[in-house]
Order: sequence, then C-alpha cells, then structure tokens
Amino acid sequence: MQPLIFFLIALPVALVLVVLIRALTFSRPAPALPADEPLKIDSLAAAQHLSHAVQCQTISWSESQPASAESLLQLHQTLRQDFPLVHQQLTLHTINQFSLVYEWPGSDPALKPVLFMAHQDVVPVDEATLDRWEQPPFSGRIADGFVWGRGTLDVKNQVTALLDAAEHLLARGYCPARGIFLAFGHDEEISGRQGAQQVSAWFAARGTTFEAVLDEGLAVVENALPGVKGPIALIGAAEKGYLSLKLDVTTDAGHSSTPPAETSISILAHALARLQRHPQPAHVEMMKPLFQALGPAAPFTLRLVFANLWLFGGLARKQLDASPQSSAAIRTTTAPTILTAGMKDNVLPRSASAVVNFRLLPGDTTQSVIQRVRQTIRDPRVSIETLHESAREASPISPTDSTAYQRLSETIQRTFGPVPVAPFTMLGASDAYHYTPLSANVYRFCPVHLDSKDLSRVHGLNERISLKNLGNMLRFYILLMQSWGK
Ligand SMILES: [Zn+2]
Repeated sequence: MQPLIFFLIALPVALVLVVLIRALTFSRPAPALPADEPLKIDSLAAAQHLSHAVQCQTISWSESQPASAESLLQLHQTLRQDFPLVHQQLTLHTINQFSLVYEWPGSDPALKPVLFMAHQDVVPVDEATLDRWEQPPFSGRIADGFVWGRGTLDVKNQVTALLDAAEHLLARGYCPARGIFLAFGHDEEISGRQGAQQVSAWFAARGTTFEAVLDEGLAVVENALPGVKGPIALIGAAEKGYLSLKLDVTTDAGHSSTPPAETSISILAHALARLQRHPQPAHVEMMKPLFQALGPAAPFTLRLVFANLWLFGGLARKQLDASPQSSAAIRTTTAPTILTAGMKDNVLPRSASAVVNFRLLPGDTTQSVIQRVRQTIRDPRVSIETLHESAREASPISPTDSTAYQRLSETIQRTFGPVPVAPFTMLGASDAYHYTPLSANVYRFCPVHLDSKDLSRVHGLNERISLKNLGNMLRFYILLMQSWGK
C-alpha cells in the first residue's frame, strides 16, 4: 500500500479509536450504595415543628426592611419549645441579635469541627397571588401529606430538620468525636451581610475553622440536564460571583430637530449591543466533572463529547449555549438590567446610563470581567463604574476527592438509594459564600427530592414539602452528623 493511502486510512481510524477509548474510560461514578434500612423517625412531629416555624413571618423584604425583630424572636421561642434537648445540652450563641449558632462540642478537640447551615428568613409572598395559594402561605398547614407555606422548601425545612436530627441523636446519647456547629443566619434572602457574614467573622475571631460546611443549595432533581434520565443528586461545590457595572455616556444636550451623528443614547446602545454580541468566554470544561461523575446516567453521546473536548469543545459549547440555564453554567453571564435616559420627546438627553449585571463563573474575576468589558466596548466615551456594594468574586471550587465530599455522597445514597451524585456550580448566591475563608470543603446541598414543578414553588406559589421528603431530610442529617462527626 502506498504510504500516503495507508496514512489517509489509518489516521481517521486511529482518531475514532482514541475518541471511543476516551469516552469508554471517561466516567468515574461513585460506587452506588443501597439505601439504609429507614431509621425509625417521627415524620409527623417533624412536620409540626416545621409548621410552627413557618407561622413565624420572618420575611426579608429588602436590606432596608429586614425581617422584624418580633418575628425572629417568635421563631427563637418556637425553636426553644420544640427542641428542648438541643437547648439544654448545646451552647447557644446569639450573633448580631438574631443569628443563631448552636455549639455541640466533640470528644476530640484535636479534630476540626463541622458546620451545618440554614437561614431563618424567607422571601415575601406576592399579595396579588394570595388567592391562588391552596393553603394560606403562613398557615404552616399540614394537609394532603404536605406541610404548606413560605419557607417549607427555602429553607425553614432545613432549620427544623437539622434541629430534629440533633434532638434525635442527643436523645440517644450520641456524642460526636468532631465538634458540630449549627448556624442559622437571619438575612440570607437580602445578602447575608447582617447574618452569615457576621457569624463567619465571629468564628474567624475565635480562630474556628471547619473540616467541612454544608449549606442549602442543590438537591436530588429530575430532568435537570438534557438526556439525563432519572433522579440525580447535585452538590453545589462552588457558586458564581456577582458584579454590576454602570455604563455612562455624557454628551452635549441638544434639540432633537438637529441631532448630531451620535447621541448619548446611540453611543450607549452601541456599547450594549457589542456586549451582547461578544459574551464573556465559555468554559465548557466546567461541566466535565459533572458528566464524569454521572457515568452511565448520562447518554453515551454526551460522555463521548465531554471525554473529547479537545475535539468536540466547539460542539459542546453550541449545545450548552442553546439554553439559558446551561449557558449560564459555562460562562460569566451578561445581563443589562437598568436603562436610564431622556425626559422629553424633543430633547436630546445629555447623559444616558445602563446597569449591566454579570454572574461570574469561578475562574473569572471582577477585574478580568471589567477588562473584557472595556476591550469589547472599545469606546472611551463610555465610562464604566463598578457598583461596589454588591460585587463579589466567584467562590473557590471545593474538591470532590475530599473525605467530606465522599461521606456526603455516601450519605445521599444511603438516604435516597443509588442515585448518581455529581458536583455542579450554583448559579445563584448562598450564605455558604461567607464561610469559604473558613473551610476548603464548603458544599451546598439540600436533602430533598424535587421535580421540576417543585422547583418553581421555591420563592413561588404554593411552596410545600411532602412528609416523605421531610422524613428523608431528617434521616439524612442524622446519618451525616454521625458520618461527618467521626
Ligand atoms: Zn434559601
């Protein structure tokens, strides 16, 4: 055979072989564990505890209108009544008036403690939708196998299930080797600056760092990714950062009968159009650990693509960019949110401004995003100002090969059965962010099994949690406190 012909045949064959071998050896799913024999727990009592907590209207409206002192103190009183052993045996620290930290010392002070987080506040209910709630949103009614109301999913369920788990273990004389802390901030829905941030500073001042931290976040979900069938458990190993930039253009004012070639509005519009046309760069490799961990739960074609990003990176990017959710998982997003210019229909406004909101992918920084924005706009007439109040970098990415992650993953399977467990980057912000300086292992996972309809109830209408889910939460925390407490 002519060397050239041989080469032309051998090359594509070798390429196909490499691609297939990489795909077949790509996945590293955790070994699936069967669910444990269910622990005997009292789901109805857990439901009543959650119901009591929901009835305290700890609504965070805005940073200038946080949850009222009365509502938070009422919640504290409710918790004292419903969890007597926790309040007798653990030390309660109250931080910045309303945030709660429960300290459960470990038998081995040489071991770093672990931290379980949640928040006491909830988002408001839109008055206009009140008549569409099947049960009043602050009734905490237990009906049809559910506890109903604001906070039953986000995230008073976590507050009461964590306390129920501690109560259960205390009643059985359990003493962890590692100290266990429970920390419940009181303003997560409006930034966490008065709550979690102060609590984190309090821990830092004491010199307390953590082996691992668990906060609310992702869950066991259905149909979360195209082509992936059945439930999967997603653990938030990182969260995106936040940056708002104000673009401002100031020109001479003038009459609209004799407009110059460019006005403040047209210059600004051009800048915004350029930002839209040239999004921040995609990082499809961010999704690789996810598909690696999912293993056979992900379709072979997807594994083929992600095992061979060197060849199919462009294809993967196109696929992921097709939906806003998956696009947001692979890049820093660009969203113009406020536009201000003009007062009168026949006057050219002197200035025009816009606010553009960016959610930063881990790996990008506020500085790198600002630099790219400048390069993209390439117009010195557009001034760019950072709205510092709200800016924050993306979190570090917590490892998936830590003991804490492995134990978390095992506990998910012991509770929910052999579901694939995979890491993911949270698109929104959580209180856990404030703890990243105190632990390398910060994970965001709420042990509930949700379908896509349930997800719309979070911050939405008819928020509710099934007693079955609540029972599983309680089992999960009992198991994890023992596993992480070792
Ligand atoms: Zn929440």
